[in-house]
Amino acid sequence: MEAREALLSRVSAPSGTKIKDPATGEVIGHVEFAHPGDVAAAVDKAVAAQPAWAARSDEERVALLLRAADNIEAHAEELAYVVSREQGKTLNGLGARFEVQACAIWLRSTANTPLPVEVLVDDGTNHAELHYRPIGVVGAITPWNWPMIIAVWQIAPSLRMGNTVVQKPSEYTTLSGLAVAEVIGEVLPAGVLTVIAGAGDVGEALVRDRRVGKVMFTGSVKTGMKVVEASAGNLSRLTLELGGNDAGIVLPDADPQAIAEGLFWGAFINNGQTCAALKRLYVADAIYDEVVDALAGMTAKIPMGVGLDEGNLLGPLQNKMQWNVVNRLVEDAKARGARIVMGGDPDPGAPGFFYPKTLVADIDNSAPLVQEEQFGPALPIIRYTDVEQAVEWANGVDVGLGASVWSADRDKAREIGVRLQAGTVWLNSHGGVDPRIPFGGAKHSGYGLEFGVDGLKAVSVPQVVSG
Ligand code: NDP
Repeated sequence: MEAREALLSRVSAPSGTKIKDPATGEVIGHVEFAHPGDVAAAVDKAVAAQPAWAARSDEERVALLLRAADNIEAHAEELAYVVSREQGKTLNGLGARFEVQACAIWLRSTANTPLPVEVLVDDGTNHAELHYRPIGVVGAITPWNWPMIIAVWQIAPSLRMGNTVVQKPSEYTTLSGLAVAEVIGEVLPAGVLTVIAGAGDVGEALVRDRRVGKVMFTGSVKTGMKVVEASAGNLSRLTLELGGNDAGIVLPDADPQAIAEGLFWGAFINNGQTCAALKRLYVADAIYDEVVDALAGMTAKIPMGVGLDEGNLLGPLQNKMQWNVVNRLVEDAKARGARIVMGGDPDPGAPGFFYPKTLVADIDNSAPLVQEEQFGPALPIIRYTDVEQAVEWANGVDVGLGASVWSADRDKAREIGVRLQAGTVWLNSHGGVDPRIPFGGAKHSGYGLEFGVDGLKAVSVPQVVSG
């Protein structure tokens, strides 16, 4: 066994459900999935560990999160190996190593973000302070696209604020969830972080457990709505990071060659399987053909293949369900007469869930490829003549996670950007996140903020002490 395989074999069960590499179909390990009835025992552990964890000083919890970050770095290659083999993403580029490095960065930043007691009033007569107390047990539910970093986004602030965590990874990427928790958990007291492997019904049982005071959920809009319903009986606090269908608007003064790389990675990061990827591109008629050509040139250069191959920068889709979504949307676009600039011709006999990098031009805004979240490597490029029309189209969907405006004139881009209904608007880039800057959605993309001081407040109970 190679050294980098050690962690995968440690978290893999000796038997159970077979977990397959989405690039090759090869069995890489096994998972013993839990049942909804097993959730209570996992929550018991978190409940038992929470008072002692909360009783530690903030400095102690900070020190342990910093040690967890060091441990992530010490096991970086093993972690990257697990997520590459299970999720499919490439080791290089904005892939597995990038994701693992981000785990260490977020743990450190979360540890180093100050949240002092706020003095609200101190006028000689009254003194009022605002403290942030632990909630208790946090239920953390993650999707399969970025299974390690999204887990860290949920776990790190929760632990910092004195909560204990029960985490349920997506059944598609359980080994990645187990692996990152194993490495973080090595430096933590028992019971502070517990992973329960299971499908959606296990997630639902976790949300329904009355002892879970807060649910951090990242996933689809549809499941997010189920989480709201299931949590109603507990009045659990919720942070919902749901799906997006991010628009990008290219203004007529943009330089097509200069923006092509940013547009490409904004859309194709992790093969498009990213919540805040660029999913619909609106381009001014005056430069439409140049932008399509520049994007096609950029797209053609990016190697796609098995994630473990050091030369590749894009891998397969993670699962057949998502492959079917992308294929359906592109086939529909073809049937409507849209122009396939490249891709759109998967080989159904090839191993793995590879879908070719696909650009679809001259497509109508009403096409499902534009209106629905494709969550894959197929970008629709829509022509506009009036920027007011582009703004209306960009805002014309139920979701609003991110959006971007591309222009040689930053002020002009900002003027348009602030009119877009999205939690984050980027100017001349798309999708970058920063642990110091809050991130959250508008409309059906969810509510609550992650990262920075707002992210810490979201996993705690404000308490006023007055007198
Ligand atoms: P899902 O909503 O299908 O699943 C998310 C998680 O919820 C999984 O762990 C899933 O388990 C679990 N789950 C399923 N049913 C329930 C239930 N009834 N109660 C509680 N938990 C449940 O999303 P995907 O995994 O398909 O992820 C893709 C989606 O996530 C995309 O729409 C994407 O845009 C969004 N996303 C949003 C992000 C954001 O920050 N806004 C970031 C990343 C992704 P299982 O998988 O085992 O069924």
